[in-house]
Amino acid sequence: MGKLSHKSGTEGPNWDPYSFDELNLVKSDGTNVVMHMGLIESVKVNGKEIHSGEGTDKVIEEITGMYFDKWMKIHYKLNEPPNRCPHCNGKHFEFHSGYVGESMQVCSDCNKIVWCEEVTESMIR
Ligand SMILES: [Zn+2]
Repeated sequence: MGKLSHKSGTEGPNWDPYSFDELNLVKSDGTNVVMHMGLIESVKVNGKEIHSGEGTDKVIEEITGMYFDKWMKIHYKLNEPPNRCPHCNGKHFEFHSGYVGESMQVCSDCNKIVWCEEVTESMIR
């Protein structure tokens, strides 16, 4: 089993940004696999896009031998609210809740968003 890391951010035009999440797995043989989940889902291997659109889960399973569900579990675990603001290291947060998937935690010191709730299937159903 390799090393797994997570990154999130926004993509798309400035007036209509769309948040994305990326899971990056470096396999024990050095192969770098990136699963991009945003406006479009895509899979990159060693920096080369090998797949985009539907069926990402199957591709991930083929390449990594790891079930997509397992990736998602790790993904959500990595997405728990932080104890410290990653921007200014502050400890005071305000919690804003909205529609499902739009709850967010904002740093009271620098007013930056430090955490956003993820939409999971169980919330929509
Ligand atoms: Zn802050």
